[in-house]
Amino acid sequence: MLGSARRATPTTGGPADVALEMEAALRDAAKAAEMEPATLAGVGVGSPGTIDADAGTVSSARNLPGWEGAFPLAATLERALGCEVRVGNDVQVATDAEFKLGAGRLYRSLLGVFWGTGVGSGLILDGRAWTGLGAAGEIGHMVVKMNGARCTCGRRGCMEAYAGRASMERHVRKLQEEGHETQLFKLMEEHGRTRLTSGIWARAIEHKDKVAIEVLDRAIRALGAGIASASNLLDVEGVIIGGGLGVRLGHPYAQRIADEMLPHLFADWRPPHVHVAALGDLGGAIGAALLLRAEA
Ligand SMILES: [Zn+2]
Repeated sequence: MLGSARRATPTTGGPADVALEMEAALRDAAKAAEMEPATLAGVGVGSPGTIDADAGTVSSARNLPGWEGAFPLAATLERALGCEVRVGNDVQVATDAEFKLGAGRLYRSLLGVFWGTGVGSGLILDGRAWTGLGAAGEIGHMVVKMNGARCTCGRRGCMEAYAGRASMERHVRKLQEEGHETQLFKLMEEHGRTRLTSGIWARAIEHKDKVAIEVLDRAIRALGAGIASASNLLDVEGVIIGGGLGVRLGHPYAQRIADEMLPHLFADWRPPHVHVAALGDLGGAIGAALLLRAEA
């Protein structure tokens, strides 16, 4: 890695505003590497939502502001940067990176589970990425409880409704209103955050916060059931646990997820190998860069 930069995702506006911030971040990173964007072989983008890789468009990026319909992200950035741009799903490209360079490089089949604000996944089957019609890997919306908790997608009982950080935060607020004491929000304020970030969760666990432990246990049970169900269908060799929470909580929690999978696994005599993402936070960016050489 020659240069890097970070910018906050806009919370208002629309796709064009998000594209402008991406362009600025790319220019910052190129500057750090003392390069001009136009001299790059190309730019790879990992984006949430449903991707049409050939058209370079992104649709249904629900966590981004005002993202209705298909937006031509690749063409927009190509015009701005003066080099080729390829777009892939953020979670799929992170899985590709783990498959080619990270914790999954010994396997031919892989499920990458990214545990953060939501829970997404990427798939490698028989050595190739599987994206379905463009929306494969939505493991967060596998049902772990019929008529269960309300999910951010509007449906009920999804794994993400128990294990996504956004849902976990909502559940903590409800428990607090019911009179359960927790230090989670105090820790959040002390560290100048406006959300219960992965770091705040990790600290609350260190403080042995009862509510944090309980909500995290519930999340891990849901992850165990959901990932085991996916594994029953696909029978992959390896499972990679990444994402903000997955990487922050690390190996002990990946092991706990593996333990929670066991009672639900059909082939429980040879469970898939479960690893933490080896490329950590950078997996998405590395995997997106690899899109430029996908046909090489
Ligand atoms: Zn859902």
